Amino acid sequence: MTAPCRHLIVVLGDQLDRDATAFDGFDPAQDRVWMCEAADESTHVWSSQQRIVQFLAAMRHFAAALREEGVPIQYDTLREGSLSDALREAIAHWRPQRVRLTQPGDWRVLQALRAAVGGTPIDVLEDRHFLCSATRFAAHARGRRQLRMEYFYREMRREHRVLMEGDQPCGGEWNYDADNREAFGPDGPGFLPPPTRFEPDAITQDVIALVQTRFADHPGQAAPFGWPVTRAQALQALHRFIDERLEHFGRWQDAMWTGEPWLYHAHLAAALNLKLLNPREVIAAAEAAWRAGRVPLPAAEGFIRQILGWREYVRGIYWLRMPGYAEQNALDATHDLPAWFWSGDTPMRCLADAIGQTLRHGYAHHIQRLMVTGLYALLHGVQPQQVHAWYLSVYVDAVEWVELPNTLGMSQFADGGLLASKPYIATGRYIERMSDHCRGCRFDPGERVGERACPFTTLYWDFLLRHEARFAAHPRMALQVKNLARLDVAQREAIRARADAVREGRLA
Ligand code: FAD
Ligand code: SF4
Repeated sequence: MTAPCRHLIVVLGDQLDRDATAFDGFDPAQDRVWMCEAADESTHVWSSQQRIVQFLAAMRHFAAALREEGVPIQYDTLREGSLSDALREAIAHWRPQRVRLTQPGDWRVLQALRAAVGGTPIDVLEDRHFLCSATRFAAHARGRRQLRMEYFYREMRREHRVLMEGDQPCGGEWNYDADNREAFGPDGPGFLPPPTRFEPDAITQDVIALVQTRFADHPGQAAPFGWPVTRAQALQALHRFIDERLEHFGRWQDAMWTGEPWLYHAHLAAALNLKLLNPREVIAAAEAAWRAGRVPLPAAEGFIRQILGWREYVRGIYWLRMPGYAEQNALDATHDLPAWFWSGDTPMRCLADAIGQTLRHGYAHHIQRLMVTGLYALLHGVQPQQVHAWYLSVYVDAVEWVELPNTLGMSQFADGGLLASKPYIATGRYIERMSDHCRGCRFDPGERVGERACPFTTLYWDFLLRHEARFAAHPRMALQVKNLARLDVAQREAIRARADAVREGRLA
């Protein structure tokens, strides 16, 4: 029988950080790391092939680096069943005095692991990857009637001395969004720096082959795969972003263009969420680029706000409100997610483009997620839990603490306005303004009824009709709702009829 170990250190797929708290005081003579590829983690939502490759390849590289360092590790390659069952077996085998892990990013996993350890004491340690702990966020939230990212972000800027001159924000403003968020001109983005992609090595190739066999019926495709799977690759991707894209990040942050998935975005969310990168080094690199005069302040500030602001803020909300948060459905949305979300097979050009690249690369940028796929689901009235399952499945960067508040709160308004002050709704005109999609589409964003009516435009008006009473006195929605007064009964009926046709897929 194996001699009992002191600590069994559990490292999950999104905790690939040698500096994580779980490793504090690690003694290779007495302790052992345990990592496991549990199939249930790829099937509890129908994980896309790119996402599974991302997690398994990065885990295998991390384990290889630990072994090279002489860290004793039990690494279970893909096994059927749950993480909890696997942990129970590992505990029975190693008989540790304690199980230690950094706080998981997923409430469900935390509960499951706590239950799985049985009588063995478990230490769930603070995740110091984040700049704001759950306790610190709760202190920020205490006593506030409304939570707003902007105020939280300012506190974080002050507290962590980011883009500050004394006690004032650099340049005199906290937020430079007024200088950002343009659309490309009619000729499109022009030359774009190529994305930083990495040729799969032998470890990643093995994972790709495994996913193509074991998860062949999962959405999307496993190859080509080019995401960073090691810390060295993630750092390379960070530095190339700072050198080649950050300068234009803010300006084109909201713009979209058919067939151009990468634009000026960072493509770093997966590397951050798997903890291959630390947000402090990402923020510091962006601030240093501005201080060296290499990028304008609005670009650096706009980018830093996403990480120091939004990323920390949504995590705070997740831990403040779970588990109830996941169940919310403030707008009583009950429709099923259309099947074409899993294939991209739709005549709506903007959606076909966003979903197509999502399934190919496991990636879409924020505005595609919020104002194309998310907006469509919101206007269609899809049950938010189904929307959540889709977003958690398809993106390489999808981890519940960040995906859920973005989907349920920001995109679907299912939390009734905790995260966003109003539903993000718009007609097809928004997409027309920010992209070239409508040019080649058979629908017309200016039409709300009739065969050529853009489904976004029809469903926008139908959304207002369905929620007229709910939002009539809402301070930020009342103006939009007021426009309904111009519609007579026949016009209202025509919108409702066309909306029903759109939902039923009768788009001819
Ligand atoms: P960039 O646009 O270049 O932004 C830089 C970084 O800022 C990102 O890498 C990310 O770490 C951070 N960031 C930007 N916006 C947000 C945000 N709203 N919340 C948290 N962090 C942010 N992000 C995820 O990391 N995982 C998810 O599962 C996820 N699901 C989303 C679902 C919906 C419905 C929406 C609207 C947004 C979601 N986001 C998610 C936020 C955002 O869309 C992605 O972080 C971003 O598109 C990733 O691409 P990028 O790395 O090129 O980011
Ligand atoms: Fe999308 Fe409507 Fe534009 Fe077609 S017309 S691309 S459906 S917004």
